[in-house]
Amino acid sequence: MALQHREVGVRDFVLLDQITMDKFMDNLKIRFQNGHIYTYIGEVCVSMNPYRQMNIYGPDVINIYKGRELFENPPHLYAVADAAYRILKQRHQDTCILISGESGAGKTEASKIIMKYIAAVTNIHGQNEIERVKNVILQSNSILETFGNAKTNRNDNSSRFGKYMDIEFDHKGDPVGGIITNYLLEKSRVVQQQPGERNFHSFYQLLRGASDSELQQYNLSKDPSRYHYMNQGSMDILSEKVDYKSTNNAFKILGFSTEEVQTIWQILAAILHLGNIEFQSIEDDLVISNQLHLQFASKLLQVTENELSNSLTTRIIAAGGNVMQKEHDATQAEYGKDALAKAIYDRLFSWIISRINRAILFRGSKTQARFNSVIGVLDIYGFEIFDNNSFEQFCINYCNEKLQQLFIELVLKQEQEEYQREGIEWTNIEYFNNEIICELIEQPHKGMIAIMDEACLSVGKINDETLLGAMDKNLSTNPHFSSRQLKPMDKELKHREDFRITHYAGDVIYNINGFIEKNKDTLYQDFKRLLHHSKNVNLSGMWPEGAQDIKKTTKRPLTAGTLFQRSIIDLVKTLLKKEPFYVRCIKPNDIKSPTVFDDERVQHQVRYLGLLENVRVRRAGFVHRQRYDKFLLRYKMISQYTWPNFRAGTDRDGVRVLLEEKGFGSDVKYGHTKVFIRSPKTLFALEQQRNEM
Ligand code: ATP
Ligand code: MG
Repeated sequence: MALQHREVGVRDFVLLDQITMDKFMDNLKIRFQNGHIYTYIGEVCVSMNPYRQMNIYGPDVINIYKGRELFENPPHLYAVADAAYRILKQRHQDTCILISGESGAGKTEASKIIMKYIAAVTNIHGQNEIERVKNVILQSNSILETFGNAKTNRNDNSSRFGKYMDIEFDHKGDPVGGIITNYLLEKSRVVQQQPGERNFHSFYQLLRGASDSELQQYNLSKDPSRYHYMNQGSMDILSEKVDYKSTNNAFKILGFSTEEVQTIWQILAAILHLGNIEFQSIEDDLVISNQLHLQFASKLLQVTENELSNSLTTRIIAAGGNVMQKEHDATQAEYGKDALAKAIYDRLFSWIISRINRAILFRGSKTQARFNSVIGVLDIYGFEIFDNNSFEQFCINYCNEKLQQLFIELVLKQEQEEYQREGIEWTNIEYFNNEIICELIEQPHKGMIAIMDEACLSVGKINDETLLGAMDKNLSTNPHFSSRQLKPMDKELKHREDFRITHYAGDVIYNINGFIEKNKDTLYQDFKRLLHHSKNVNLSGMWPEGAQDIKKTTKRPLTAGTLFQRSIIDLVKTLLKKEPFYVRCIKPNDIKSPTVFDDERVQHQVRYLGLLENVRVRRAGFVHRQRYDKFLLRYKMISQYTWPNFRAGTDRDGVRVLLEEKGFGSDVKYGHTKVFIRSPKTLFALEQQRNEM
């Protein structure tokens, strides 16, 4: 088993003799090459994607980590999961595990490993209902991946949504429920894919996995190339056939009814037919050219063909109490159709999650169901810099700014609080605070989101270019924003539509094209009414706002930017109340190789995850702290005064005697319950002496 190999490199970066990028990289590399994919920075776990199956997750390994302190075993996600779980169980304190890193770095795998560990160490009495809850939690992952993941050029199984899950525990520490919150599904993928990429897995599962009679019922062919929404990118086959079965099986375990499951696949089929509908302008008339797909789509959505055709080709406008019908031109109709397909999928995804949440609810006795504390697991998109960055990257990178702010706040706060609690002197240390960037984006009335909203609300002819003008005017004094207009000589800003945000993780050039459209995220009212009136109750239930009277002026729905901002602010509030643990995921290369360590790519990630600063912060204080009894237990054998036992006083006295004898007295401070060691050298020396015994 890999754990028994002799460990190479240092298992905690604070133990490096010098904190430089080179030393950091050397350690990461040598550990990766020797199969040590986990390394700590204090309590932060740095995780390298091994791109191969590792023999380090079995029940034997789970036993090694159960109930153990972080430093007692080689670094592992299990140790972090156990630490979070122990705090919850012993102190009844909420904890959370925040997993970050770029696409393909291993976040989702890490979150599953953590959940698996928690499931393995709980419910020792084998209660049925708790077993059911655990099963639902684990099974929910496969459904979320089917509907929320897709093959991208960076990751064959890329999560195209953010996910936060609270696992709720009773006072004995057994899981009794959970709630999943999802963030910003990349719904544009439903209608459009980049070369080499695919639509969401769900569509391929349906075509490859459903029986002939099912497909016939949906009027679908097995061949994805026949569908416009599937044939723009790659049509690679993954293992769809088995997946369709296991998805349906997971639905069953989660208690979805047959009708509900049927509705889900039916909606997917309808989306594929919608995608094949084409519009033609013949003289002044707009005509749907492939009626057959219209017919199938309406049948599957359980609306009449006429209703669907009307809402695709016209819209109803209510003005001054009058209702008028206005015909679309082909471009508007095309836009409306895609917006409809995206919205249907997005709603379906949220509905599936709400159904899963209902399934996770504890069904045992009421008194037991009251949960005591939670462990939150966050698996959310990492910082993104593409060749072309748009509104989606803007939202994702904003989210990362907020999480970085939380990291600063919590990591520093935690350190300082511990010193205070233990009566240790402490001076604040300097650290780049990204508050200014968060403000640039989210400040009320003056921030970028507010400026975008104002542009979307204005009635006059405002386009992306005028929006950029408004940003230039309002944000020119913020050093983290620049644009071509503000800096005409800046060569990086190649196009007039480019603007740059200097994020904490580096510069990102965004292209303003499409910002207004994506922020508005318009879906014509006609579609909402259409779907609300579907004969399918599940589908109709996903569109409650379609019940509204046509003549009533509807309040403008909130913009995508504002909705996202609100959800992230809520998330941060939730996380702030919890004791955090961090997993920082890194991908070793872009070719999914288990052996290649691409120095440049890795260094880039180390830099923007702020790992070096993290080590420095950790080292500026005390790199190591440990309870006196535990410390003695680990090191007593190296001193003649404490081996086999220290008899002349308290554990605190014992630790003092040992450290004085070894000449480390000036490098340590004695708190109320713990000893604090400043330099990693001391800890290193202690470990070495212990190993030599
Ligand atoms: P995204 O942001 O695109 O969702 P991610 O960070 O969630 O990416 P994962 O999907 O977790 O990335 O990992 C990508 C792939 O890397 C996995 O499908 C798997 O092949 C491999 N991988 C990641 N972690 C491990 C691991 N611990 N053991 C083996 N393989 C792994
Ligand atoms: Mg993922």
